[in-house]
Amino acid sequence: AVQGDTAGQFDVQFEATPNNLESFWMPFTWNRAFKRKPKVITGAKDMHYTSDDGRQILDGTAGLWCVNAGHGRKKIVEAVQQQVARLDYAPAFQLSHPLAFQLANRLIGMAPGDGAFDHVFFANSGSEAVDSALKIALAYHRARGEGQRTRLIGRERGYHGVGFGGISVGGIVANRRKFGQLLAGVDHLPHTHLPEQNRFAKGQPEHGAHLADELERICTLHGPETIAAVIVEPLAGSTGVLVPPKGYLQRLREICDKYGILLIFDEVITGFGRLGTGFATDCFGVTPDLITVAKGITNGTVPMGAVFCRKGIYDTFMAEAEQAGGTIELFHGYTYSAHPLACAAGLATLEVYKEEGLFEHAAELAPKWQEAVHSLADHPHVIDVRNLGLVAGIELEPRTRAPGARGYEVFTNAWEDGLLTRITGDILALSPPLIVTEQQIDQMVEMTRKALDATP
Ligand code: PMP
Repeated sequence: AVQGDTAGQFDVQFEATPNNLESFWMPFTWNRAFKRKPKVITGAKDMHYTSDDGRQILDGTAGLWCVNAGHGRKKIVEAVQQQVARLDYAPAFQLSHPLAFQLANRLIGMAPGDGAFDHVFFANSGSEAVDSALKIALAYHRARGEGQRTRLIGRERGYHGVGFGGISVGGIVANRRKFGQLLAGVDHLPHTHLPEQNRFAKGQPEHGAHLADELERICTLHGPETIAAVIVEPLAGSTGVLVPPKGYLQRLREICDKYGILLIFDEVITGFGRLGTGFATDCFGVTPDLITVAKGITNGTVPMGAVFCRKGIYDTFMAEAEQAGGTIELFHGYTYSAHPLACAAGLATLEVYKEEGLFEHAAELAPKWQEAVHSLADHPHVIDVRNLGLVAGIELEPRTRAPGARGYEVFTNAWEDGLLTRITGDILALSPPLIVTEQQIDQMVEMTRKALDATP
């Protein structure tokens, strides 16, 4: 039987006893604190999770910024169920299956930039999409006879997943410093957070476009002919919702064009409606050469990532191999690239987005969202609020001797009261499923205020 509409009501036999929690090393988790006070989810439907103690938790974060259409959507559930029965797996190399082509065509059909993109490369996560994009950029230059372009430029406070490529171009110190030398030849732009000038800015901040000019300095330093690509999140999510200053991305694009450098937008969070447009690329009117996506591509149901390639990139690989009499044009791919279940989930997800007009819905709600989240600005713990589309960052004053502790307590208090938030140090992020209602937005902000009040 199809369970789509009853998801969330399954009876899961699990008790979070110390014994049962023993073997799982949880990712990006304060494991010791978790074991003292476990948070376990057993079901989900639409805007709510069910916790193991039977409470309904309002999902203020769309899972991890991925469940854009809300949980347990019948169409997606059924598509995955039918696909697993029809074709569970197909080898990803030298053959494929119908849904892979269909999904690639659909994605290119909806890609931003007025037909600028013509091919999709599939991976299984944001991290893999990033590593794929970096490798495509490097090999692209080589295929064009510019193999000296080996440098990659990331940005401070950038998050590009956890592969060695991603942490090398990424700019989160904690994610880098325990892992040795990382990729050679990487440099970083400064981040765009200017708290003095832009505090409590609504939407795109006014100040900071000049920070893109640092790319000129980096080009001068290394020689622009050695630089393959610049990768940025158009809106940085994981490091606390940093909205790009007006004109900043345009400037990056200009400098990349001037020197023949590829521009990569990591749209793992911003892709699929988060900003009230299909992609950040549409929202900011700046078209990169490669776009990485994941998360919302399957509504978080089955892992999938992808790279959108601008016209000319794929053709360059084909031409090079043709000329050299080679066979495989790109020596890269994953056992689960374009996995049948992910493709089924992806196709159904895109249909739900379209049928329900969820990107437009997000755009319509954005002014309400902005007003609601900025109402928290008067709270004594709050030192900044940032927002765009249906995402917001609420920055708290850190406790002097324990940075991050206040954030973690707010997150825990909210969870206990029935709201899921996400915390990066002392920055609270909210990014609800795009099916959220005005009433639920008010509820989310009220619950956030309550959690702030309950936290010393
Ligand atoms: N890039 C960005 C911009 C992300 O936000 C994330 C995940 N939050 C990733 C890459 C990595 O994605 P994954 O966790 O699926 O590997």
